[in-house]
Amino acid sequence: KEKLLEVKDLKKYFKVSRNDTLKAVDGVSFDIYKGETLGLVGESGCGKSTTGRTIIRLYEPTAGQVVFDGKDIAGSLGTSGKKELTRRMQMIFQDPYASLNPRMMVNDIIAEGLDIHGLVKSKKERLERVYDLLETVGLNKEHASRYPHEFSGGQRQRIGIARALAVEPDFIIADEPISALDVSIQAQVVNLLQELQEKRGLTYLFIAHDLSMVKHISDRVGVMYLGNMAELATSDELYDHPLHPYTQALLSAIPVADPEIERSRERIILKGDVPSPINPPSGCRFRTRCPFAKAVCAEIRPNWHEVEEGHWVACHLHDDSVTMG
Ligand code: SF4
Ligand code: MG
Repeated sequence: KEKLLEVKDLKKYFKVSRNDTLKAVDGVSFDIYKGETLGLVGESGCGKSTTGRTIIRLYEPTAGQVVFDGKDIAGSLGTSGKKELTRRMQMIFQDPYASLNPRMMVNDIIAEGLDIHGLVKSKKERLERVYDLLETVGLNKEHASRYPHEFSGGQRQRIGIARALAVEPDFIIADEPISALDVSIQAQVVNLLQELQEKRGLTYLFIAHDLSMVKHISDRVGVMYLGNMAELATSDELYDHPLHPYTQALLSAIPVADPEIERSRERIILKGDVPSPINPPSGCRFRTRCPFAKAVCAEIRPNWHEVEEGHWVACHLHDDSVTMG
């Protein structure tokens, strides 16, 4: 398997006042392979969106490396480097209405990237490309001369997808692309994304807040908590053998249809709320809510390491080099 993206110890801090720094992403590492979907989940405020936005350089990274197709793109890029990056990486947003300019015709929304990157030579070619893209996402020619408010939420997300596809990217970051849609529409958009992935060999980072949503979409899933990665594994491995107490808690909150299994399951109920990322707990950030926390958890930040091939976790319970008192 070939890596398309390597994220190494990525940090993104925001200065929120003279004395306070919000450590939204604080040392996160993972890889994404060509053609796969990596799901990234966690509660709101865990840093998953910030991770996506920092990778695509909507935010400047505070520290760390992002290697895209062999090149580090976390440092200074220059105008042409940045332009190349915005062609190869595209983003789909949660709220397709807010991300589409209400005063622009669909035609111009979709063609914006074509214009910026000089990908079409004539007005005729431009329009043909727009028609093709509309068809690709399940819309049609007639939609080209309309405005965003004339569409339903699902259709608007399709327009957002067409806009992202216009420049023929390799990599798409989808930030909760279906969370704002009706449940009946969600599956349609997911199916479209999967079909496009197969046809075009796309690689996805799929950000979502709940584990049940990403299970069927993702080849692998990463779980974030308070700016750190807690666990990452293939979808099956993560759902069948979760190691991190936080992942276990998230999974035990998902209802199971089979009452037999439901009764025999051990539920992990988390106490309290997610602490503020401005003054996060020392050591393991999950320790204030973890039912297994020991003294060492307050002192030492757990290592992000591979416990079995492809299964990564940051927890002292799964690190032989640390003695749990
Ligand atoms: Fe819980 Fe300690 Fe593991 Fe953190 S390192 S998840 S506090 S057991
Ligand atoms: Mg978000």
